[in-house]
Amino acid sequence: MFLFKPSTDNSDTYDPAKATSKYNAVKDAVWKSGEKVPFLALAKTFAAIEEHSGRLKSIEIMSNYFCSVMHLSPDDLVKSVYMCLNKVCPDYENIELGIGPGILHKALAESTGKTLAQVKKDIASLGDIGLYAEKSKSNQKLLVKPKPLTVSAVFDAFKTIAMMTGNQVQSKKVDKIKSLITSSSPIESRFIMRSLAGKMRIGLGEKSLLQALTQAYLIFKDESNAKLVGSDKFKEKLAKKSLLLQTAYCECPNYDKIIPTLMEHGLENLSKFCFLTPGIPLKPMLAHPTKGVQDVLERLEGAKFTCEYKYDGERAQIHLNDDKDTYIYSRNQENNTEKYPDIVKLIHEIVSPNVTNFILDCEAVAFDVSTKQILPFQVLSTRKRKNVDESEITVRVCLFAFDLLYLNSESLVTKDLSERRELLRQSFNEVEGKFMLATSKDLSDVDAIQEFLEESIKSKCEGLMIKTLHDDATYEIAKRSRKWLKLKKDYLEGVGDTLDLVPIGAYLGKGKRTGVYGGFLLACYDEESEEFQSICKIGTGFTDEDLSSLSASLKESLVAKPKSYFLFDDSLNPDVWFEPSQVWEVKCADLSISPVHRAGVGLLDDTKGISLRFPRFIKLREDKKPEDATTASQVVDMYRNQESVKSGDGGAEAAGTAGSKEDENDYY
Ligand code: AMP
Repeated sequence: MFLFKPSTDNSDTYDPAKATSKYNAVKDAVWKSGEKVPFLALAKTFAAIEEHSGRLKSIEIMSNYFCSVMHLSPDDLVKSVYMCLNKVCPDYENIELGIGPGILHKALAESTGKTLAQVKKDIASLGDIGLYAEKSKSNQKLLVKPKPLTVSAVFDAFKTIAMMTGNQVQSKKVDKIKSLITSSSPIESRFIMRSLAGKMRIGLGEKSLLQALTQAYLIFKDESNAKLVGSDKFKEKLAKKSLLLQTAYCECPNYDKIIPTLMEHGLENLSKFCFLTPGIPLKPMLAHPTKGVQDVLERLEGAKFTCEYKYDGERAQIHLNDDKDTYIYSRNQENNTEKYPDIVKLIHEIVSPNVTNFILDCEAVAFDVSTKQILPFQVLSTRKRKNVDESEITVRVCLFAFDLLYLNSESLVTKDLSERRELLRQSFNEVEGKFMLATSKDLSDVDAIQEFLEESIKSKCEGLMIKTLHDDATYEIAKRSRKWLKLKKDYLEGVGDTLDLVPIGAYLGKGKRTGVYGGFLLACYDEESEEFQSICKIGTGFTDEDLSSLSASLKESLVAKPKSYFLFDDSLNPDVWFEPSQVWEVKCADLSISPVHRAGVGLLDDTKGISLRFPRFIKLREDKKPEDATTASQVVDMYRNQESVKSGDGGAEAAGTAGSKEDENDYY
């Protein structure tokens, strides 16, 4: 009797890591035109990215694969893109793939014939469910050669698993996962299990992915571009062209729409088909931090501006479409409509009769109806997220509207804030305690701004948002723009703003903290290199409950060794490492140059980075993903601001140079 190894069609020889100048998208692809893309080709692409370091090489590998798919199996391109992002649909459809470890362990136990306890133990010692699956597949001999998996079949199975509900859902999921494991080769099972666990981070962020897609498209359309990859001329072209794809994605973050449009109408025509649409959340405009009123005035250089209260709640992007359906989206384009049935009901009360559709930018804030007072963010965070029944709501919210982006089938983002604000005032009616326009004053005098800042804090706000009104005052989708500056009360105490950082490692607790983590290693995010750079250790600011809930949730993200995209000094030596999964708001006394930490390395000093002194945990930022953490250039900016505060030179120059990168698109 013959024993067969798992699937070994010729996709086994696929090598997407070849230099693009030598890669032939058709001949090197090892599958034929019109065939479904073998999943092995994608798995080999992921493995190659994992093996090679450097963002440009990762983009090249991904682009080689995409280019083959564009030539041979364009219908598989959308699914390939979702697989790279570990997603099964746009964020706003709220369907996530993170299957709990219980189900995954059971499926592995049943398909390997080991006990559950053994599987758990082995995974814990390897520290990676993917590697465990790969190893156990390598040890298995199969009697029957399974049919090779395709990208399309794996994606469909993932989506089915993610959407399963109802009776015996657990055992149905286990069965489906088992059949995927059975059909997969060792390397395929590595990525299947990581994806199912929601841990498919290959170190290629969405920005790089869009660049890889653009690069592939340029070569697909004109093969001679392949020879130019890496040259300055091509880099320039790529930057310009990928902006078209990024813009389309920011206005319409839906690959099901963008990719077919790209393939049918081309990059240049994307904006004609993929634009703002009520019902599809756009990436919001963000603000740039400042260190004081003087800093604000210097940055705005005589432009007219308005000062608005900065409310401490949750961003709510509210959409009304022609069918009068209301949608509420978070800062991260998650669909929060179910969380706020009270807002959905309110919308019809506040719109003027001439309004047919709109997209409104607001902050939803917890509100005490009897005292007419704004309540802290912590109160808002106690609200249920799903299946909220209006009659059970105890935490009331008031919406504070600050911008109008779309009205009566017209996009307003290219209009100045003064015009958008006028339309906002004309199109909506305030209802006390439920829907109010953000309190604002158009000021220019330092003392008046200072007074208004203090007033905002007395009214339980975080500070002020300062926005240009007429010149250079358009709505910048997805950008942290200098047209919006934030002035928080915290700046009065030293550092201009809190930082949002990512735990990448931890130290086991001792004494009172035995059983939980006692300290953590935090990192900021460098958007240029897409690396997480260590910035401090932290052990204060946590309540006992914080420590136990954070420790429990972080245990789900343990990895055996630091990721290739972590930058840290070996002396930091944490007991455990985590896959980036959470963002924590942290306050500190000040920032200093550090021989150990790596935040912003290369920006101020070639080898030294910046670290935080006396960091204190404030809260978990549930609305942020690791890539939304404070960036390395923001850290450098904060450091320079503080240095100039200390030396008393006002800091505008230093802040201006270090912060210039912040004018770039914040997401990409
Ligand atoms: P931060 O999260 O500290 O960067 O601050 C930006 C956030 O402040 C936005 O994403 C909004 O959720 C919130 N915010 C509160 N009030 C305003 C306002 N008047 N204008 C713009 N954003 C505001």
